[in-house]
Amino acid sequence: MYLEKQVLTKNNNKIELFINKKDADDSSKTILFIGVVHGDEPQGEYLIHNLMKEVLETTNKLLFIPCLNPDGRDLNQRGNSNGVDINRNFPTENWEVSKEKDIYFAGEFAGSEIETRFLVEIIDEFSPDVIFIIHAPYKIVNYDGPAKELAEKISVLNNYPVQADIGYPTPGSFGTYAGVERNIPTITLELPDSMDFETLWLENREAMIYTAIN
Ligand SMILES: [Zn+2]
Repeated sequence: MYLEKQVLTKNNNKIELFINKKDADDSSKTILFIGVVHGDEPQGEYLIHNLMKEVLETTNKLLFIPCLNPDGRDLNQRGNSNGVDINRNFPTENWEVSKEKDIYFAGEFAGSEIETRFLVEIIDEFSPDVIFIIHAPYKIVNYDGPAKELAEKISVLNNYPVQADIGYPTPGSFGTYAGVERNIPTITLELPDSMDFETLWLENREAMIYTAIN
């Protein structure tokens, strides 16, 4: 596993992108895994670190951002250190100015945050074929873009129901940016509201390995 790219946050934390192989193989798919978009959902980092140990041997190119929002994680808050909800800050057509600076604050402008721009750059540079992003606490497999079949397969493996629509509007969300507007199959794994990280890993191990190697 190689550290491919990193950036410093406002609070001097590193956001890191790891890659499983240095040499590109044109015949392989590129899969991107992302954890901890919301700082108070730290489970994804544990799952991705576990996955990184298990999937070194595959023809796919694998990219991992175990923790996109380390400032929020350290502060145990949803947003980053500017109080911006990264999942409302992507430069989508439906991005909108927030009425108030609550926990869903979308930022001063679309793509204003280091965390958002880091992920946008990675998508431009690597053009992933599949994206797998981890949130909590709904215990569902949500998807955007052409990912219905993969979502259904994951659902069989982890026993979480598939839900195409999360049930409330999410302007500026990553799912809209990557799945809806760029047509990249994007899986949003919503973990149950549990801090027993090892159980969450074991529940999702097969589904995550399947996504990485197929
Ligand atoms: Zn979340």
